[in-house]
Amino acid sequence: QSFEQLGLPKAINDGLLAMNFKKPSKIQERALPLMISDPPTNMIAQSQSGTGKTAAFVLTCLARVDLTKPTQPQALLLAPSRELARQIQGVIQTIGQFCENLIVQAAIPGEVSRETGVKASIVVGTPGTVMDLIRRRQFDVSQLKLLVIDEADNMLDQQGLGEQCVRVKGLLPKSIQILLFSATFPDNVHRFAQKFAPNANEIKL
Ligand code: AMP
Repeated sequence: QSFEQLGLPKAINDGLLAMNFKKPSKIQERALPLMISDPPTNMIAQSQSGTGKTAAFVLTCLARVDLTKPTQPQALLLAPSRELARQIQGVIQTIGQFCENLIVQAAIPGEVSRETGVKASIVVGTPGTVMDLIRRRQFDVSQLKLLVIDEADNMLDQQGLGEQCVRVKGLLPKSIQILLFSATFPDNVHRFAQKFAPNANEIKL
């Protein structure tokens, strides 16, 4: 299979070419067609790190956002640490380097000005900061169509982070597409994940 067969916009294919990604990895090959098809469906994907899972959900984000509204948040990615949020932001910016008007903002402490608030198509953050921004009305979530949770085993396990994820989700549009990615899904996390992302397609490599 090739990336072309997925029917992604040309700007995204140009980004993949620039990164020298020649063909989809296994997780990308299996998950992408399910994640980018309409109507949107939820996904629970288990895949080791190093298998290309970051690019799998990043490509889905890029495929879903409407860049005629570049400052309107449309995809939200949550990660357990600031460092990982930054790293994901970098991957989006690299694969999306030819996507005109794409704005990617990190919702981590010190990154969002109080005056302007969140002004981006794609937002990557930690749950606590994202929650604060929504509560202060500095982050308009009304048009979000995609929620991605990376390292779901960490995010949905720990009492604190799991609760924060549930609270954030409660403030988002009800019809939002949810993608959960993790290297492992221990039983308790898996049950939590199935409640968090109802009727999800499940992929395990
Ligand atoms: P990850 O599993 O997200 O940690 O990604 C592992 C590594 O694989 C990263 O360095 C990516 O840049 C690289 N990668 C992801 N997808 C592809 C692909 N389709 N072809 C070649 N390398 C890839």
